[in-house]
Amino acid sequence: MVKARKFVFASIFDGEPKQSDFELQFEELPTLEDGDVLVETIYWSVDPYMRVQMPKLPVNSTMIGENIARVIESNDPKYPVGSYVWSFFGWRDLTIFNNNMDKKEKGGNHIPPYIVEPIANIPLSQRLASLGMTGLSAYFGLIELCAPKANETIVISGAAGAVGSIVGQIGKILNCRVVGVAGSAEKCRWLKEELNFDAAIDYKNENIEEALQRLAPNGIDVYFDNVGGELSSIVMSQMNEFGRVALCGAISTYNLKSDRTTNIPIQPIIIAKQLKVEGFIVNRWFMRWEEGVAKLSQWILAGQLKYRETISNGFDSLPTAFIGMLRGDNIGKALVKK
Ligand code: NDP
Repeated sequence: MVKARKFVFASIFDGEPKQSDFELQFEELPTLEDGDVLVETIYWSVDPYMRVQMPKLPVNSTMIGENIARVIESNDPKYPVGSYVWSFFGWRDLTIFNNNMDKKEKGGNHIPPYIVEPIANIPLSQRLASLGMTGLSAYFGLIELCAPKANETIVISGAAGAVGSIVGQIGKILNCRVVGVAGSAEKCRWLKEELNFDAAIDYKNENIEEALQRLAPNGIDVYFDNVGGELSSIVMSQMNEFGRVALCGAISTYNLKSDRTTNIPIQPIIIAKQLKVEGFIVNRWFMRWEEGVAKLSQWILAGQLKYRETISNGFDSLPTAFIGMLRGDNIGKALVKK
C-alpha cells in the first residue's frame, strides 16, 4: 500500500499565516484501476492567491496549488511512465488521477493534468514560473491591458517577484523606461544590475513619492500593480493623463484582518487623469497560453529574459516557503522542490 502525504488547511488564517495553520496528513492510496495514473510531484508553486482562496474552502481541505509531477505508474496510454505533467494537485506528494472520470475526485483534483514537454536549456520548474501562470500574467497583463509604447515609463510594484520581474524585462524589450518598486536594497540591486531596469525604489526605506518624481521625471504612463493599497495610490497620483493601469494583485491587503481603505482616495485621481484601470485574472487568456509560452521561451533562449528562482527543498518545507514568500523572502519565483 502506497502512502501519500498532504498538507491541509487546519485553521482559518488570522492575519499572517503561521505554521499551525497547516497540518500534515497521510493518505493510503488504492491499487491502480483501469485508466488510473500515479504521479509524484517534483515541483510545487507557492503563490499569493493561496492566501486569498484557502479561507473560502472548508477547514481540512488540501492546500491548493499548481505542480509539475512525474508519472510513475500508468494505466492510461496518454500519460506514459516517465512523462511530466502540469497539474493542480495542491500540496501533496503522490496523487492518483483518472482523466476518464468526469470531475470525480481522485487525489483531490478535477483540472485535467496535461503533459509538458521539456524545452532544451529551460528547467522544467519554469513551467510554474516564467512559462506558467506568473509569466503569462506578466505577458498578457502588460501587453493586452497596458499596450506600452516605446519610450513610455512603466512602474511595477512587487517588481522583484515572479510576475513583476518578468513585466519589467518585457518593458525593456519594448524599449520603455522601467522603474521597479521592491522591498529591499538587494532586490533593487538585482533589478537594476542584472535585469537592466532603469531604476528601482526600495519602498521600505525610501520615500516613494519623492523617488518617483526623481526617477520618472516625465510622469508614469503604465502602472503594473501587484501590491495595491497606499503604495498604489501614490504611484497612480503621479500618472500621466490617459495612463493605463493593470491591476494584477493586491498582496499588501491579503494579510489584513479586516478591509481597510487607503488614506488617499483613488477615484478622483482616476477621473482627473482619465486613467484606464483594469483588473484581470490570467485565465482570461487560457486559449492563448501556448502563444504566450512560445514568446516567453523565445525571449529566454535569446538571452533577453532572465529568471530567478527561490527554491525550498523538500515537501515538508511547503508551509515555510509559503509564509516566507508572503513576507518577501523570495527573489523571482518561490518554488518548492521534492
Ligand atoms: P511574488 O513573487 O511577487 O511574491 C510576493 C511578493 O510580494 C513578496 O516577495 C514581497 O516582496 C511582496 N509583498 C508582500 N507583502 C507586501 C506588501 N505589504 N507591500 C508590498 N509588497 C509586498 O508573487 P507573484 O509574482 O506570484 O504575485 C504578485 C502579485 O500578482 C500578487 O498580488 C498575486 O496575487 C498577483 N497575481 C495575480 C494573477 C492574476 O491572474 N491576476 C496571477 C499571478 C499573480 P517585497 O520584498 O518587494 O515586499
